[in-house]
Amino acid sequence: MNVIFSDRAISAVMAETAEKIRTETGGLFLGKVVGENWYIIEAIDPGPNSVFEVAYFEYDQPYVQHLINKVANLYQSQLDLIGLWHRHPGSFDQFSGTDDGTNTAYAQMRPQGAISALVNLDPHFRLTMYHVSQPCTYTKIGYQVGNALIPTEFLAYHTPEMYRQIMEQLMGRTSRGTGAITGGFKLSDFLDKMVAGLTETEMPPQVLLFSEAQRDAVIARILEEIMPDMEYMSEQKIPYLLQKDQSSIWLMPKDQNKNLTMRFCSRLPEWEVCCVWRGRSYIYHSGAFQNIGGGRTSPAQPKPDPLEPAEPNARVTRSDFWGEVIKRVVKLGTEWEDKKV
Ligand SMILES: [Zn+2]
Repeated sequence: MNVIFSDRAISAVMAETAEKIRTETGGLFLGKVVGENWYIIEAIDPGPNSVFEVAYFEYDQPYVQHLINKVANLYQSQLDLIGLWHRHPGSFDQFSGTDDGTNTAYAQMRPQGAISALVNLDPHFRLTMYHVSQPCTYTKIGYQVGNALIPTEFLAYHTPEMYRQIMEQLMGRTSRGTGAITGGFKLSDFLDKMVAGLTETEMPPQVLLFSEAQRDAVIARILEEIMPDMEYMSEQKIPYLLQKDQSSIWLMPKDQNKNLTMRFCSRLPEWEVCCVWRGRSYIYHSGAFQNIGGGRTSPAQPKPDPLEPAEPNARVTRSDFWGEVIKRVVKLGTEWEDKKV
């Protein structure tokens, strides 16, 4: 197993450590996991309203949540929250009981677990990297630094051209797509039109998920993928409901007619999302409906809630997901107190 920091990510960790030299601090890692390689593309700082004390530190939760979304959206490839770091007092480079809880929550987010780093200044900057597997087993691993070690597509930003096109579409000048969706479609007509532009695939096998955390991770993953298209459908005034079961999301008409329901599911371990419609299965990519429909053709209207639930408990939004994750990392630092002489 191998961890590779981008130049920017390691600088961000060191800058944060230097700025808060007398207190605890920490941050989050955004990146990609490919096989044995963990690429840290960005390190998110804990925010201006964090609490920095000698023995204690808390994330500025709204800031962190905001910044994760903002930063991740700049990149062409999807960046995931893959781990975290924090500073420890003196030479203490192992995890406390408090840390175990936090690390466990992170390791449950993906089948591969998570990475968690500790920084010590004893007296020089020293970073110890651990892999955390489920439920909470630590393996000390090495790390490297350098953009040259990272596949270039993971470092690529969205292009000015893409933003220009989005702006033009939002301003009502469409520059791509024929057969634009003009709104007011029935859900089933809309989905018939959409699947004509998707690639058919084998029916996804039944996914066996062992823990509730794994199931939550799959549901969150599917929601991440489909959210832009759900927003697009809301803008196009196509009425729909979303429901979830243990491992899929169901997109259905408001009368909940089960025969006219599209099921989104995810194939582990690659997390590939497929959709099943009228007994056939298709490969789905985030934003596929928007692309097939010819993009956004009118200025965004005030949006109806895209996740209007059939029952209150069915409501899961992307920000709820991040919120839940971040809630678990709010308190990282009580061991500092214990170790202080
Ligand atoms: Zn700690």
